[in-house]
Amino acid sequence: MNDIFEKITSLAKRRGFVYPGSEIYGGLGGFYDFGPLGVELKFNIKQAWWRDVVQFRDDVVGLSAAIIMNPKVWEASGHVSGFSDSFLECTKCRKRFKIEELEQEKEKKFICASCGEIFEGKVRKFNLMFKTSIGSTEDSASVAYLRPETAGGIFVNFKNVLDTMRVKIPFGIAQIGKAFRNEINPKDFIFRTREFEQMELEYFVKPGEDEKYFEEWLERRLEWYRSIGLKNIRTYEQAKEERAHYSKRTVDIEYKFPFGWQEIEGIANRGDFDLKAHIKVSGIDLSYFDEEKKEKFIPYVIEPSAGVERIALALLCDVYHEEELDSGDKRIVLKLHPKLAPYKIAIFPLLANKEKLVELARRVFNKLKEEWFCAWDDRGNIGKRYRAQDEIGTPYCVTIDFDSLEKDDVTVRDRDTMKQERIKIKDLKDYFSKFL
Ligand code: ATP
Repeated sequence: MNDIFEKITSLAKRRGFVYPGSEIYGGLGGFYDFGPLGVELKFNIKQAWWRDVVQFRDDVVGLSAAIIMNPKVWEASGHVSGFSDSFLECTKCRKRFKIEELEQEKEKKFICASCGEIFEGKVRKFNLMFKTSIGSTEDSASVAYLRPETAGGIFVNFKNVLDTMRVKIPFGIAQIGKAFRNEINPKDFIFRTREFEQMELEYFVKPGEDEKYFEEWLERRLEWYRSIGLKNIRTYEQAKEERAHYSKRTVDIEYKFPFGWQEIEGIANRGDFDLKAHIKVSGIDLSYFDEEKKEKFIPYVIEPSAGVERIALALLCDVYHEEELDSGDKRIVLKLHPKLAPYKIAIFPLLANKEKLVELARRVFNKLKEEWFCAWDDRGNIGKRYRAQDEIGTPYCVTIDFDSLEKDDVTVRDRDTMKQERIKIKDLKDYFSKFL
C-alpha cells in the first residue's frame, strides 16, 4: 500500500502536479506548491463544486471574504480559546505528536516514532491559529490571525447578504478560499498541511428543520462525489466527544487512502452557535425575520466543509492505474473524470519537422482550444506521447498525420480503451462535445 502511495506522490512531483514548498531552500514543513497540472486539477475541483453548490441552485449565493479578519471574529467563534490540539513532545528529538494520533496507535504510545526513544513529558496544548500582526507595531493590540476556516467570513456577512440579496430562509452562503492551521504534525503528503483550501457552505434554516436539511445535504454531497467519479468513500458519524465545540451532529465523508480511511469532508449541524456568539460579541442583531409568518428567530446552520487538496489527493489515489499491455509494456494511467482532467485533449503533429503537418495540427489545436483546455506535444514518437498523456489523465489524443493532409481527418485515441478512430476535422467539436 505504501508502495502505491510512494508511486502516486512521485508521479505528482514528476509530472508537475505538486512540488514541495520553497524547495530550493530545503522546503518548509506542511507547505506545498501546486504545479501547472496541480493548479488545473484544483481549479476543476473547485469549479465542479461551485457549479453544483452555487450556480445550479437558486437558494445559494457566493462570497469571498478577507483571510485576515478582526480578531474578535475568532474570539466569538471560540477559536482563540478552544482551537487547540494536545501534544506530547519527545524529550530527545523534540518531535511533537498529537495525542489523538498516539491514542490511535496505543502500542507505540510512549515510544517516539521518529527517534525510537522513550519519551516523557507533560501533555501540552497548542493553539492551531497562525498569529500575525497588523501595522508597524508588534504589540498585543495589533495581533491578528490567519483564518483557520473560511466559515467565519460567512457568519459575519450574514446580515450583509440578508440586506443586499433577495434571499429567504432556507438559503446558503458558499465560499472557497485558503485556510491556515499550524498543524503539529503535517503529514501524508498534501493530506494534512498548514495551508490549504476549503470549500464551505453555510446553509441557514429554521430551527426544527435542521435535521431534514442535514440529511439532504449529506445525500447531495455524496452524489457530488459520485458525479466526479470518486469511488471508495463512506460516511462516518462522529461520536459526541469527537465533535467540534459548535457541533450538534457531524458526519464525515471519508476516503480509503493507502494510509487508511480518512476524512475529506465534514458535514456539521452547527445549530445557532455561531450567529448567537457573534450577536453576543458584536452587539449586532443577526436574527432573521420571516415576513410571511411574522416571526423572528436565529437560524440554525448546516455546514458541508470540504478540503480541495484532500479531494485532489483522494482522486489521484483513486484513478491511478498500472496496466499491462498486450505488447508486454506497462502503462501508468490516471483515469480522471474528463471534467477534472487538467488537459481534455492533446494534439500531436506526427512529425515536428514537416511544416504542412505542423500547420494543420496548429489549426486543429486553435479550433479545439476555443472549447477545451488542450495540450500540444510535438516531441518523440507517438507511443511515448500517448504514455505521457495517460500519466496525467488526458482523456483524448489527436494525431495529425500524412493522411490528414489528403483526407482532412485525424486519429482520435481514447485514454481508457486505447481505441483509435478516424474523425473528420470538421466533426471534431461535435464529436468531443458528446464526451467532454
Ligand atoms: P482533521 O480531523 O483531519 O484535522 P478537521 O475535522 O479538523 O480535520 P474540519 O475542521 O472539519 O477538519 O475542516 C473541514 C475540511 O477541511 C476537512 O474535511 C479537510 O478536507 C480540510 N482540512 C482541514 N484541515 C486540513 C489540513 N490541515 N490540511 C488539509 N486539509 C484540511
